[in-house]
Amino acid sequence: MTAKEQLIRLVRMQELVDTVRRAERILASAPGKLEEIENHFRERNAEYVAVQDRFDELELDRKTRSGELEVLEESKTKYTDDLMRVKNQKEYAAMLKEIDNVKAQISEHEDAILRDMEEIEKLKGELATHREHIEQERKSVAVESKSVDTASNEARETIEKLTVQRRELESGLSLSLLASVRRLEDRRRGVFLSRAKDGMCQSCYVRVRPQVFQEIKSATAVHSCGNCRRYLFFEPGIKEAMVDAGFAPVEQSPADAEAEAVNGGAV
Ligand SMILES: [Zn+2]
Repeated sequence: MTAKEQLIRLVRMQELVDTVRRAERILASAPGKLEEIENHFRERNAEYVAVQDRFDELELDRKTRSGELEVLEESKTKYTDDLMRVKNQKEYAAMLKEIDNVKAQISEHEDAILRDMEEIEKLKGELATHREHIEQERKSVAVESKSVDTASNEARETIEKLTVQRRELESGLSLSLLASVRRLEDRRRGVFLSRAKDGMCQSCYVRVRPQVFQEIKSATAVHSCGNCRRYLFFEPGIKEAMVDAGFAPVEQSPADAEAEAVNGGAV
């Protein structure tokens, strides 16, 4: 493979890497965004949320106690049966004590359940006055969350698709070149390639020797920057060659473009 062909592939790979990294950022930020949406809802509707939280708390308490109540009733029945089989006064007294104990717990649970239910009824009324407003609010939460999910799904698809494309591009390159690309990618936050312009590496602004710059310009050799080690290419020439070789620009989904705007394109 000629140096020019290798450089075309490197430029293309860098484009894919940039797009994949944007997609990865979208994926990574999704859980935080969803949480933020929910938090905003809770902030906007603090009064309603407090009532709803209290309602849920009471419902849970009522449910738990009802379950416990059943167990206590069973114990009471069992102790009452046992009372018929005691052999002496001492056992009888002990059994009566168990029964009194379980009866006290039953009555305590019944009172608490009653209190829960009274408050639940009252809160139901309060919640009903908020219902219409909250339904609207919940709808907008759903719309916002959906757009985060859609962006995540698009990002996932982009990553999958571009990973395959990258593999295809890599298949023609030497193992040593690929190894050093990977190393640079890890160390240089994904940027293994740099423009060379006016005799300088445009990433670290260190000058390259004139002879080397000429070879980069004519794409007759693959060089890397003596300072930052990134591979260097001369953009006008390579972009032209890429068009000739039929490489269309990497397509950007709207979500990618948005992420770029948010991040200011910073890498
Ligand atoms: Zn450099």
